[in-house]
Amino acid sequence: AWSKVPLGPPDAILGITEAYKADKFDEKINLGVGAYRDDAGQPYVLPSVKEAELRLLTQLLDKEYAGITGVPTFTKLAAQLAYSPSCPALQEDRIVITQSISGTGALRIGGEFLAKWYPYGKTIYVPTPTWANHGAVFRDSGLEVKSYRYYDKATISLDLDGMLEDIEAAPVNSVILLHACAHNPTGVDPTPEQWRKISEIVKKRDHFVFFDMAYQGFASGDTDRDAYALRYFVEQGHQLVLSQSFAKNMGLYGERVGAFSMVVHSAEEKKRVDSQLKIIVRPMYSNPPIHGARIAAEVLSDVGLYKQWLVEVKGMAERIIKMRHLLKQHLEELGSTRNWSHITSQIGMFCYTGLTPEQVDTLRTEYSVYMTRDGRISVAGITTKNVKRLAESIHAVTK
Ligand code: PMP
Repeated sequence: AWSKVPLGPPDAILGITEAYKADKFDEKINLGVGAYRDDAGQPYVLPSVKEAELRLLTQLLDKEYAGITGVPTFTKLAAQLAYSPSCPALQEDRIVITQSISGTGALRIGGEFLAKWYPYGKTIYVPTPTWANHGAVFRDSGLEVKSYRYYDKATISLDLDGMLEDIEAAPVNSVILLHACAHNPTGVDPTPEQWRKISEIVKKRDHFVFFDMAYQGFASGDTDRDAYALRYFVEQGHQLVLSQSFAKNMGLYGERVGAFSMVVHSAEEKKRVDSQLKIIVRPMYSNPPIHGARIAAEVLSDVGLYKQWLVEVKGMAERIIKMRHLLKQHLEELGSTRNWSHITSQIGMFCYTGLTPEQVDTLRTEYSVYMTRDGRISVAGITTKNVKRLAESIHAVTK
């Protein structure tokens, strides 16, 4: 039956991990993975998350299905975390929310909903570059994917003028995808002032915004600060939708904990929209997994655990910021005459180094340093032990 099925291309990032694993050099460095590592290079389970999980285990809860939209205590707290408990839209009961299979699942539910119900066209605009999966998720949802300028290679920073021009030029009522914070893969975020300009143009053109927030708290170490753009847009009266992931900020990667929400006009509209979200979710996976959502709900609802979690998220963000500084410092000490200021000005898990595909190849073959060919490094893969050798390797290929 499958003789006509062609061999598909391997996933670019997973391919790097394979090559890294096969490398016998014991000082090899993997900067491909998009998951946090501690300073010993090990996966990190947050102590607050461990504690929440232990508490759940002692309760020996049943394993009944959640409803189609998931664990209600979790979704309520997730909405508060994103929009803030004092958000008028929350208080007026006009935010629809459903649990999702992490951020990817939230994007997919949103894509499906827009493709089915958005009355003004089926095109979504994503930044260039953007997270590698956005295109496929939205295309498979039935949307057409176009792009707007975002990153300027020459200055290794935000191309604000290009971005505003492209958003303005998109047909009125277009859907615009915005990374809420810690833009992946560039690590370049708009400043509050720039967000205000983006909001103005979006409003002027009656566009509709899809926020992807996969790194709340992980970018600056402050969950409120990282939600600035989202909250500002809500305040400005934009109707929008939001994808949330708890993979990074709670380290719940494989538990697949996320949420998809929509800010709508009224509580009455919420009921109608909610009923249609259920109709979309039911045939896709019926209802979401409960374990991770219960863990997240425990962390978010217990005052002590919540405070502890905030400290731990900040700790992860700070370790990453420290590694950025160390890498830059080592490069400068080695006498690199290049400008590396973007390493520290960028934010979040990733750094767009500005290295060329050829330099990336040399780093892999001659220095056992692994990263994607666009020059993106996962700063979480840097440790106090490997940073010096990393700087030496990067310096060697960029001299
Ligand atoms: N959006 C962005 C921008 C991401 O970087 C990621 C994770 N790498 C996701 C969404 C979704 O990840 P997950 O499905 O693991 O939550």
